[in-house]
Amino acid sequence: MQMMKPDNGERKEEESMKIIRMLRGPFLDPEQECRFEEMMEKRCWKYFLPIGLSILVFQIYNILYALQYTGFRLDTAASRIYVILYLFLLLVSGTALMFRKFVLARKKEKSHLALSMYQCYGVILLLWSVCVTVYDQRVSDNLNVYTVVALGTAMLVYMKPVISIPGFLAAELLVLLGMPRFQPGGVAEHYGTYLNSVVLAATAIAVSVYRYGTVRSEFQKQELIESQNQEILRKSEELNYMANHDALTGLWNRRFLEFFLDGLFCQKNETEMAVLMIDVDYFKQYNDTYGHQKGDECLKRIAGAMKLVVSRGRLFRYGGEEFVCVVPGYGREDGKKLGEELCRCVRRLGIEASDPGKYVTVSVGITAGTVKQREDFDRLLGKADSALYQAKINGRNRAAEQ
Ligand code: GH3
Ligand code: MG
Ligand code: MG
Repeated sequence: MQMMKPDNGERKEEESMKIIRMLRGPFLDPEQECRFEEMMEKRCWKYFLPIGLSILVFQIYNILYALQYTGFRLDTAASRIYVILYLFLLLVSGTALMFRKFVLARKKEKSHLALSMYQCYGVILLLWSVCVTVYDQRVSDNLNVYTVVALGTAMLVYMKPVISIPGFLAAELLVLLGMPRFQPGGVAEHYGTYLNSVVLAATAIAVSVYRYGTVRSEFQKQELIESQNQEILRKSEELNYMANHDALTGLWNRRFLEFFLDGLFCQKNETEMAVLMIDVDYFKQYNDTYGHQKGDECLKRIAGAMKLVVSRGRLFRYGGEEFVCVVPGYGREDGKKLGEELCRCVRRLGIEASDPGKYVTVSVGITAGTVKQREDFDRLLGKADSALYQAKINGRNRAAEQ
């Protein structure tokens, strides 16, 4: 079979998708996108306080230095312009820091105002560094402030490429257009500075896009691991349920009875308990008359009714049509009352038996005593079994005790 070659249009579309994926990082569905922004917001918030505070302190220091340098007169244009720039950043940082609490208090679900504010702050900081750097050109052709802020912003402010790329390009354009106005001598003399600023802007864009894409794919991996963990947890809960419950009736199974008893005998004290053994009357006949499917239905209904009656203890499907009920804290009297109630509740279901005019019933054998170890329980179970036999002999649909 020959593979169909993609035509030119398809290839171009594929190429542009590749570029978009490279710029934006892996695809996230809208729900994931929202959780991603939530996570980004938290991360950015972590950086915001120390960065904002240190910029605030640094600007106060700069202003004080300028004042002290000019003998508190600010009598040169340069000193006034620098102080205005420092004051501007001081105000922006102070307002942003104060707004931080305000934004947090008013945070609505799915709104990421704080993230937008942090990103805006990054862009303002970048433009501010451009102004300082351009003005610095009068006396020195260094790009120090622009370098620190551009790389810092690229690394610490997680900006979508649609914001970061135009942002860094606009900043670089301003640098290129602004520098010749302040530099003594011609552009050719400062060729190196221009080249450095272009390389710097390209590096900042690359770092910012790479950081954003990496965080995004990390997030996607984390989400995948979490969803797999959830699935494993769900499966293990399902398996746990299946291991401890009877598939037909939903009652605890015999295997769980063993666990239950192990837990009980871990306790040092003796426990008083009532043990009831319950058996459906003439169930073989019921199956023979109505078939096994109806028989299963009948067992389910009986189990459901009895479960509602046994509120304190635990009801187990012990085997075929036999059930065991264990009620810690119950004595013989309480056990007998419960046994009689179990007989009544099954009879009340009004399930027609194989004999015309008769209804499905259960017989219950009851005993009670204190147990400390496994042998004690087995002894009680044996007595409940004998009592059940007695109930059957006495005419069924009744409780007998021993
Ligand atoms: P008795 O009143 O003496 O208890 O009589 P019985 O017929 O109930 O007693 P017997 O032990 O002879 O029969 C129990 C029947 O229960 C036999 C078996 O077919 C049926 N049984 C056991 N487990 C299931 C089950 O899961 N589904 C169905 N439909 N029948 C079951
Ligand atoms: Mg039986
Ligand atoms: Mg039976």
